[in-house]
Amino acid sequence: LLLPIGLVASAILMLLILWVSRQRLSPEKELKLAIRKREFQVHYQPLIELATGYCVGAEALVRWRRPDGRWIAPDLFIPLAEQSGLILDITDHVIEQVVADLHAMLLAEQQVHVAINISARDLESGRFLDVLEREIAKAGIAPGQIWLEVTERSLINPDTARATIARARDAGHLMAIDDFGTGYSSLSLLETLPLDALKIDKCFIDAIGRDAAASVVTPHIIGMGRALKLNLIAEGVETREQDAYVRKAGVQFAQGWYYAKALPADEFMAFYRDYNRGKRSRFLSVAA
Ligand code: C2E
Ligand code: MG
Ligand code: MG
Ligand code: MG
Repeated sequence: LLLPIGLVASAILMLLILWVSRQRLSPEKELKLAIRKREFQVHYQPLIELATGYCVGAEALVRWRRPDGRWIAPDLFIPLAEQSGLILDITDHVIEQVVADLHAMLLAEQQVHVAINISARDLESGRFLDVLEREIAKAGIAPGQIWLEVTERSLINPDTARATIARARDAGHLMAIDDFGTGYSSLSLLETLPLDALKIDKCFIDAIGRDAAASVVTPHIIGMGRALKLNLIAEGVETREQDAYVRKAGVQFAQGWYYAKALPADEFMAFYRDYNRGKRSRFLSVAA
């Protein structure tokens, strides 16, 4: 009698193990696990000062590297991270990695600036600022070397956003509005925020020389940025024509595949060194 009972029990156990291993984790659990296992890596997209052709720094862009080696783009997991609140942990991780990479670059006697993307949840919580202050103090990095980017869409709660932005500015960081022109923030709101720069969204740069109707809007978006008396950064510059256009329009900085794609830290460091050889930055001599 004992034998069949034992067989049945082990069969049930086997089925149970099979069932558990077949269960796919929910996307949120997968993300949580990835955070615990530190599967996120920061890449750096060079930021170019147009007047001098100098690379003044980079934007930190996070990527998820799955255990099977696949890279997952941020657009595929940042929305879920924002919904679930896990973005706070990802932001902390990005900050830690950026500061560590900056520290390594400084050891190589480089003066690099890095922009970090901050989400609406981060602005609400303000926790990232504590992490940032702690990390840069430990590494001996000047606050001015870390810029922060917030999208227009993340200003849904203007009062909280204003308070956090003011705190970041007081701590010595530079603040930029990301994807400018695509959100629904009013110019009057932007005018009241303590900002340093506007990043003109890629869609307006795409329109240059392509879509006649859309490119009618581009000079006005640039004009609005100028009216706010802020530094302008063109994002997603891919062609020589777009580069020439934004230069002529008085945009100070640019980012895009025309100059360089986002690179792993060591490749960015090499790029920075080679690209800047024999050049002098206007911005850096003012900022220094
Ligand atoms: P974003 O902050 O506006 O970043 C610019 C995006 O445009 C990046 O995509 C960049 O790789 C891409 N890009 C730059 N130049 C070109 C170009 O010339 N052509 C084309 N086709 N694309 C270009 P990426 O890295 O996939 O990031 C997408 C978005 O994900 C970012 O948009 C940002 O909103 C978000 N993101 C990335 N990293 C982080 C992060 O650490 N934290 C948060 N909260 N969001 C992040
Ligand atoms: Mg950005
Ligand atoms: Mg952007
Ligand atoms: Mg964008």
